[in-house]
Amino acid sequence: MISQPLTFTNLSTHYVKPQYRIFVSGSHAAGLTLNDVLYEVYAIPAASSPRQLWDAMKLYADSRNFAYFAGDATLRLGFEAEIVGSSLPSAPEVVEDISEFLDKIKVPSASHAVGEVPFEQIPSQVDCLVVGAGITGLLVAQELMDLGKEVLLVEKSDDVGGVWRHQANKTSRVNTSEPAYRLLSKARPNMDHTPTAQIMDDVRSLADRLSQKVMFRFQTTVTRVEENMNIQFTDDRSSEIGSLRANRVFMCVNRRLGNVRRLEFSNEAKFKGEIFYGVENDTRSMQWKDKHILIVGAGAFATENARTALELGAKKVTVLSRRRGSVCPLIVDYLNFIRPYDAQFAHDRAGSNKIFHKWRRAFKDCKVTEPECWQEGLMSPKGHTISVSDSWFVGHYYGLLETQLGEIQDVSDTHVTTTNGLRIDCDVIVKCTGFEKNHAIKDILGESRTHENNVVRQNTMYIAEAILDNIMGYKTPFGSSYVESVKLQLQAIREAVKEDRALMPDGEGIDMSDSLVSKAVDYIAADLTKNPERQLTAQKHVLERTLNYHRRFGPADFVAENKAEWLRLVRLFKARNPSVPDPPYPFEGMIESLAEEWTNPSLPVGNLPSLRGDAEVHRNMASWIKSCLTPSSESFSSSSESFSASIAPN
Ligand SMILES: Cc1cc2nc3c(=O)[nH]c(=O)nc-3n(C[C@H](O)[C@H](O)[C@H](O)COP(=O)(O)OP(=O)(O)OC[C@H]3O[C@@H](n4cnc5c(N)ncnc54)[C@H](O)[C@@H]3O)c2cc1C
Repeated sequence: MISQPLTFTNLSTHYVKPQYRIFVSGSHAAGLTLNDVLYEVYAIPAASSPRQLWDAMKLYADSRNFAYFAGDATLRLGFEAEIVGSSLPSAPEVVEDISEFLDKIKVPSASHAVGEVPFEQIPSQVDCLVVGAGITGLLVAQELMDLGKEVLLVEKSDDVGGVWRHQANKTSRVNTSEPAYRLLSKARPNMDHTPTAQIMDDVRSLADRLSQKVMFRFQTTVTRVEENMNIQFTDDRSSEIGSLRANRVFMCVNRRLGNVRRLEFSNEAKFKGEIFYGVENDTRSMQWKDKHILIVGAGAFATENARTALELGAKKVTVLSRRRGSVCPLIVDYLNFIRPYDAQFAHDRAGSNKIFHKWRRAFKDCKVTEPECWQEGLMSPKGHTISVSDSWFVGHYYGLLETQLGEIQDVSDTHVTTTNGLRIDCDVIVKCTGFEKNHAIKDILGESRTHENNVVRQNTMYIAEAILDNIMGYKTPFGSSYVESVKLQLQAIREAVKEDRALMPDGEGIDMSDSLVSKAVDYIAADLTKNPERQLTAQKHVLERTLNYHRRFGPADFVAENKAEWLRLVRLFKARNPSVPDPPYPFEGMIESLAEEWTNPSLPVGNLPSLRGDAEVHRNMASWIKSCLTPSSESFSSSSESFSASIAPN
């Protein structure tokens, strides 16, 4: 199936599209020259199904540790190669060059690849209607399909993936660590803090699996879902209007991330530099090197653009916002998932304090200004997620990154002035000013309120991310991951469908657009307390996720990987400010200081005895705990009882 290497000249757009897809290896063999590096380039004849083609490429890729491309033709695994120190030079410029090149040979979007039901063949009656082909819609459709239900999935754009397909940048990565934002179980997990390309690959695999049974319809907008289960929709290609009836409707159309919020600053036209929003790959053609970048905003996209700017050589990055966002190092996010939980999914408070202490210390040592919300007892400002980034810390340490409070009052040719009198010189402005909420949902459903269990009214659910508010820590079975929260909600759907029960509203009514995480968390806690069986299933789910974390990287492996990443950032940024001495790794001893948690019987979910379900994980953890707590003990046995005895306080 795999052809001989082709030379660059063979890879004209005309030659490649649409009969071939391409992947690029990092070895210095014959092929394509980019930034003076030769890449092997292979073209694969389009196979009978996209899945077969993709599997063939993955097989090859797995054996060679290299970058490979397909699907929407964006770079995959380039960053990973860098982390494991392979010969693939995955310098961001190279990544960009390859991405640019591959954009020219883009393969069709899912509406072509998945196959869809023609407009006139959309049935007039279906059992389950899922609206939205983002991650939520696909996971819900999968669950319903696996329960043997007839499913129609309607999506208004021409592709699957939702925000990952339309708003994310190529440089975007999942904030949550990999095992808690996993769409597929596969032999080789994604990179940690998975980049867009891998998420989109998984999304397409999922859609491909679903397309065997689920009816897909793209470029079709659902405009009305009535109480009597009459549904109206519009074919966005022909503007034709259709209707159908469904027994159950699942609106999976997002809440928090609607359209990009566009705004214009006073005198923006006078600015001589470039202005972007930092989403939808709009900075793709921008040269960040040696520029002073002003990022406006404090959310996840602001942090992401700061990271991208720093990695791609910006001279200085200033992040300007009304209030500072909360940014945590990768290790803090990892610990939130891998630490054992009590039966109600809370972590040990003393351990959490230790983590917060070190996290705060890292702010001080790296000269990062703390977010104001911490003084108010909030982990992050309302509506904001906690962004995860180590380059935030190293960038600040080297003086390449700073945060400022204020709002832009006026833009002039080379700088902005703020309402509080700051003047910030800059070459580029990136307006990470967030997203509108999805207001259309209220009109579609003809309701302004929903319920805490996400059932709006009988057999109509609206499943979407809640608005982040003052939740402290992660006392939830889903941690900080929305994907995990969807997986847990599937449990309620599964129970109702299996028992052929109607989906009924539960909980107080809440505003549909402003449904808060804290309310959802309280509801889940009360619901699980009332339903011991559900509680047990949730505990099993959390334990399985914890095991996945241990399989992906136990504490020692994680720290090794994290230190390597820290060092890479130090090398990268030091080159721009060589006189500054290297910063020490700030999280030395952090995980080790929590070792006793894994033997604490009051934390039964994910502690050492519970890890026995996977003998290897159990053995590894036991020996790691031993090395942390009783380094000189000769008599250690891997059984948790004798281990507990050996560390019992006098
Ligand atoms: C770069 C990035 C990083 C992220 N990182 C994290 C993270 O680390 N952890 C986390 O928990 N979350 C993260 N998120 C949040 C993310 O929004 C969710 O995790 C998840 O992808 C949301 O999926 P969704 O399917 O609910 O919504 P969407 O992806 O928005 O999908 C909704 C779909 O519905 C379609 N639609 C809307 N209205 C209609 C209609 N009327 N008719 C038909 N179709 C319609 C839309 O076209 C869209 O395809 C991140 C998001 C981004 C962009």
